[in-house]
Amino acid sequence: MLEISDLQVEIEGKKILDDIFLEIKPGEIHVLMGPNGSGKSTLAKALMGHPDIGVKRGKIILDGEDITKSPPDERAKKGLFLAFQYPVEVPGVNLANFLRIARNSLLPKEKRIPVFKFRELLRKKLAFLDLEENFMERNLNEGFSGGEKKKTEILQLLVLTPKYAILDETDSGLDIDSLKTVFESFNKILKNEKKMGVLIITHYKKIFDYIKPDFVHVLKNGVICENGKMDIVKKIEKQGYR
Ligand code: ADP
Ligand code: MG
Repeated sequence: MLEISDLQVEIEGKKILDDIFLEIKPGEIHVLMGPNGSGKSTLAKALMGHPDIGVKRGKIILDGEDITKSPPDERAKKGLFLAFQYPVEVPGVNLANFLRIARNSLLPKEKRIPVFKFRELLRKKLAFLDLEENFMERNLNEGFSGGEKKKTEILQLLVLTPKYAILDETDSGLDIDSLKTVFESFNKILKNEKKMGVLIITHYKKIFDYIKPDFVHVLKNGVICENGKMDIVKKIEKQGYR
């Protein structure tokens, strides 16, 4: 279980999140909604251990282990994954190599996947996302379209198969076809990885055409103001976030 307990978070001395409690059990799909600037990405970054984030109070527990102070790579090793809202371009870093190194860093030495075998595996994953094979030769996110960047985040998810995945607005900036490809692929991942716990951050209701969440939470001004199920979404549709 990924457990967030009484979390209070600051950035540069300014309080951004307060009183955050959230429990994500294996196999559960949670959706976090909220208006722009409510602190959704800050929560995602706090979970992953982003260096800008100052945790002032509270705990993040991953399968019983306190990771509140762990660096991001340790959290990744323990099975946490974040798909960024704004993936960064990394010139000079080949996508295939990046993914292989990321995958292998999670495995014990004797299980590491050799280059040839990994590329074979990657070819299948690329096809899964409607990406061409030579896409893996490009540099990480460099010159990628918005849709390609988001697909690359899902490609990482496919390769890393974490225990808990956080998707920060993976749906935003996608056209209808890419949205369909990305979330149909994501659903296939969930079918294969029945124990993956998921936190999907969004403010569009379009995502509910693809994702059927177990729980929905609403974040406003850094505080979770509502917890429930799909009924909350219907309410937001009618009244907005007011
Ligand atoms: P959301 O993802 O819900 O749109 P964010 O988590 O990105 O919201 O931002 C929440 C608040 O934190 C905003 O007021 C934003 O300006 C502020 N914030 C986020 N990152 C930083 C930063 N690096 N420095 C200062 N303020 C920040
Ligand atoms: Mg955000």
